[in-house]
Amino acid sequence: MDDESSEDSISQIDFSAAIPDPEDIEIRDSNRLDSARLNTSDSLNEKKTIASTKSFRYPSFKVSTKSLRVVLSEKKRQFNIYSAGAVAVHSPGKVVTPLHGSIRIQKKTSQIVSIENKGIKKDIFLPCTLISVNKYNYIDYDEKSYRGTFAFYNGPNNALLLVNILDIEEYLRGVIPLELGKRGKGDLEALKAQAVAARTYAYKRIEERRSFLFDLYSTVKDQVYGGANVEYREADIAVKMTKDIILTSGDSIVYAYYHSTCGGRTASIEDVWPQKSPKPYLISVSDLDPDGESYCALSKYYTWRELWPGDQFKNILLKNIGNNCEYDKSQMVSGDFKFRIVDKNGCGRVKTLLVEGKGWKRKIIADKTRYVLRRGSSDHPILRSSNFNIVSFTKKEVAISGNGYGHGVGMCQMGAIGRARAGQKFDEILKSYYTGVQLSICTLEH
Ligand SMILES: [Zn+2]
Repeated sequence: MDDESSEDSISQIDFSAAIPDPEDIEIRDSNRLDSARLNTSDSLNEKKTIASTKSFRYPSFKVSTKSLRVVLSEKKRQFNIYSAGAVAVHSPGKVVTPLHGSIRIQKKTSQIVSIENKGIKKDIFLPCTLISVNKYNYIDYDEKSYRGTFAFYNGPNNALLLVNILDIEEYLRGVIPLELGKRGKGDLEALKAQAVAARTYAYKRIEERRSFLFDLYSTVKDQVYGGANVEYREADIAVKMTKDIILTSGDSIVYAYYHSTCGGRTASIEDVWPQKSPKPYLISVSDLDPDGESYCALSKYYTWRELWPGDQFKNILLKNIGNNCEYDKSQMVSGDFKFRIVDKNGCGRVKTLLVEGKGWKRKIIADKTRYVLRRGSSDHPILRSSNFNIVSFTKKEVAISGNGYGHGVGMCQMGAIGRARAGQKFDEILKSYYTGVQLSICTLEH
């Protein structure tokens, strides 16, 4: 998540950073989980036990809805969708016979769209909603299949806003696979921890965006959601086994930030984003096991090194600190410059980076350093973490070494996998990263 950083965007870059690298991770302990637990014949009894245990063990937390609105598109005027099963079209003042097959929806005015199916075109008012007659139907759009309902609203810049409305548990089935990758049975407790974190994140968004037309983006701006195509068995089981469980602190849903790899120690929220208020459950914690090894050492980004040719480094650095800069940019570009780490936070991440040239200097703070020291690859992604050291800095070449991937706040996803493989249960994993939180069961207000 490219958090620049309102309370609104958690950890965009980091979520994608955690996306599948299954071949890089040895499944060391895939048989650890009792196979009977996942056996279909026993799963019903297991579920009953889980359900009764859950409601007994965890206090209830009242929520206003268990349905989620996730935006799939906000820039297009025309949509080609497909539904094998019949979908009822709801629109103010108009009843349209259920449609199936290819359906084209095109914006005509801020209030009207045309809907075309099997050669017949009708104009209908916005908002219009497509509801599957059979709840097991999928609606296809942009080569992905989605559960739930499609709603079209008048959007900004002459576009239509397409929102997928579905049950939050179904939504999670399309999120966990993209957030934690393809994992085996041995990683089930990590998948469960991820399901609870992602569910908590979603409920927090619902609470915050009540007055909006949608609750979440389907991209790294919130949580990456791939619809039904990405679902797989172990992730589904993790969602089911943690059904309705979220993290709470006091009488609030927590901000369940998470990231790919902490590098050995997580970060306190205010150290990463100084403009945000401290949270008792988002404080820096060690991610080391009893032998002093990091639980996330299995991540290929546990340590890393970045190298730039001197000219390229200068261009990238000056371009990114040059924005909204009070100094004369030509002066910055023409002369020599120095940069150094002034100080670090207790968790080891850079607190202040100082860049200075003749007649100018600039301090870059905390996580913003990652947005200035962008990497040398073609699309210049941000630096993997703010936990870094300058290895060399010459006119010819600049090298930086670092630990971890992501902002470092909240749950370390690769650490969660390491902990699951070490035998920790999902609640233990979550409580390791979110200090003092409570697990609660969502129940509807009415
Ligand atoms: Zn970690």
